[in-house]
Amino acid sequence: MAATKKTYIVEHLDEELGPWSELEYLAIAKESQEIGSEFHLTSLPLGFKVPEALAAIPAFKAENRGVEEIYAADKSRVCLLDPAAKKDLSPEDGETFDVFLFGGILGDDPPRDRTSELRKKGFEGRRLGPVQMTTDTAVRVTRLVVEGKTPVDKIPYVDHPELKFSEHESTQMPFRYVTDKDGKPIMPDASSFPGMVELIKKDSDKAIDDMF
Ligand code: SAM
Repeated sequence: MAATKKTYIVEHLDEELGPWSELEYLAIAKESQEIGSEFHLTSLPLGFKVPEALAAIPAFKAENRGVEEIYAADKSRVCLLDPAAKKDLSPEDGETFDVFLFGGILGDDPPRDRTSELRKKGFEGRRLGPVQMTTDTAVRVTRLVVEGKTPVDKIPYVDHPELKFSEHESTQMPFRYVTDKDGKPIMPDASSFPGMVELIKKDSDKAIDDMF
């Protein structure tokens, strides 16, 4: 297959779209826009209200149909990014597939394998290495492999980084992240509302409060 425009699909599997997922999806949409790819959020419940900031990005498309229905006649174009797949994603997969499918699930520790809901639909699967990533990281890594032609094990990562909020407050993230040129984990931070680090801090403050 010639170099075609890639489509990144997140099949919405959680009950609702919480602030974490919204930030992740916004990051995916912005990065897809920058490189001329598309980002589709599929299987949205009827009447689902797409956040304005997302809807405003031209590369973004909201779909009520599920991926199985959309690609019923074209399954071989779709690659499921699956932590349990036997083979890792390779740059050559960019010639075989033009649609890359991800589970719209927040990461959990230990992972509950909710990607299995998509595996059952019979799409060909590829792994992005052995460590669980956030959905936006998984899309970023896929893009670097299939569009940037970088092998999955040559991408700079940090596993389970510790986020320090102050001298006495920190929390460890149970995921793998791509790092930036300063070696820092790349996480979504939207300018229009609180970024990921603020959300993480809020959640960890709540967890501490709940202990008392
Ligand atoms: N705990 C999860 C589960 O229940 O499967 C992993 C969810 S992860 C936060 C969201 C999505 O990112 C997954 O459904 C998968 O598509 C992709 N993903 C994350 N890490 C991956 C990896 N190491 N290999 C392949 N895909 C991955």
